[in-house]
Amino acid sequence: MFQKILIANRGEIALRVLRACKELGIQTVVVHSTADADAMHVRLADESVCIGPPPSRDSYLNIHQIVAACEITGADAVHPGYGFLSENAKFADILAAHNITFIGPTGDHIRVMGDKIEAKRTAKRLGIPVVPGSDGAVTEEKEAKRIAAEIGYPVIIKASAGGGGRGMKVAHSEADLEVALQTARSEAGAAFGDDAVYIEKYLQKPRHIEVQVFGDGFGRGVHFGERDCSLQRRHQKVWEEANSPALNAEERSRIGGICAKAIADLGYSGAGTIEFLYENGEFYFIEMNTRLQVEHPVTEAITGIDLVHEQIRVASGGGLSVRQEDIKFNGHAIECRINAEDPRTFTPSPGTITHFHTPGGLGIRVDSGVYSGYKIPPYYDSLIGKLIVHGRNRVECMMRLRRALDEFVVDGIKTTLPLFRDLVGNADIANGDYDIHWLEKYLAKEE
Ligand code: ADP
Repeated sequence: MFQKILIANRGEIALRVLRACKELGIQTVVVHSTADADAMHVRLADESVCIGPPPSRDSYLNIHQIVAACEITGADAVHPGYGFLSENAKFADILAAHNITFIGPTGDHIRVMGDKIEAKRTAKRLGIPVVPGSDGAVTEEKEAKRIAAEIGYPVIIKASAGGGGRGMKVAHSEADLEVALQTARSEAGAAFGDDAVYIEKYLQKPRHIEVQVFGDGFGRGVHFGERDCSLQRRHQKVWEEANSPALNAEERSRIGGICAKAIADLGYSGAGTIEFLYENGEFYFIEMNTRLQVEHPVTEAITGIDLVHEQIRVASGGGLSVRQEDIKFNGHAIECRINAEDPRTFTPSPGTITHFHTPGGLGIRVDSGVYSGYKIPPYYDSLIGKLIVHGRNRVECMMRLRRALDEFVVDGIKTTLPLFRDLVGNADIANGDYDIHWLEKYLAKEE
């Protein structure tokens, strides 16, 4: 087992990983920018190293400084959290070259899944259902037209190097296709330095359903069920549930089984999430994330398994603590992402939190790095906390969520708490009746 883990992140996820390390009796080192000297993860860690000025590229993305911090403190492993360097294959390779364990998959696995064309090809080879579309990159208009006619309009053109919902264009007919292809290519080239694009069928009313998987690095793979993350704004998840209100037990075990087998065949190590669009009872792979997700706590709530403990175990070579048959799904969980943003316009609202009071009681978990008197710096994302609620079933979970939202107090800044108080009383949400466009339509109506 590791002696000392360096946590290369900030905010709630740095604290999340820190808690797992403390439970396992592992020493912790955190890194931070000058803007985060007062952050909770810095206060609670055994050691901390300031690695640079506020901009992420000079601190949390600065590989050189982070490796130096490992060497100075003698850390033998790095947990990257999510975002920042968590899906950076070069970072994983550099750590390996320094005999420091990257708590995550190999650089090669990160690379394959980071390129969407390659990821889709790999998924298909492993028996995962994919969205019908081109086999690889498409450059010629003629070829694009032929493929689009074959799969049927509407189609979506996506950047192979894309991420964060950028570099996608929908074409509703052959007349739109030429412009869509050209715009997608030039946008992808400008944004990602790689203009490779591919075509797939555009699904009209899908849900976003993702499967949590784990590989032990020795050829064994398991799944921890799915999460439904259909409630999104600008491709950013807002509210996540486990399990999905749309799946039955048979569908769950079928798609979970396919994913677990794929992970085993890939020889994958650590946590991963296989993301699908789901429509009319069919799953369509869109991408795989090779890291811990923001929404992992809903899976922890219904399985009772600490996924960060598992990540650390697997990375140290100790394998998984559970077999597939040990993983049972118990009740229902919902996570609300609470952002320091205006709940109507979603403009960031940094500043000082004058008062912070979190809800408590049975089935309530709050993962947050902030506290009363904390000043939110303007340089990073606006997530200030996650409220995760668990109940024996979805109805109980919603009742408890409503009560917890009422108890939550964040003064001094604007937050998205009022949005969740509205959503929890909405009939479609109560019925679990929503797709990936639901939230944007709802917000447009509210304006
Ligand atoms: P990114 O890595 O940029 O987030 P994804 O491939 O995960 O890109 O897609 C992001 C979002 O774009 C999806 O959650 C979905 O809302 C939409 N999308 C992607 N592919 C399709 C498709 N084939 N049909 C309909 N919507 C899609």
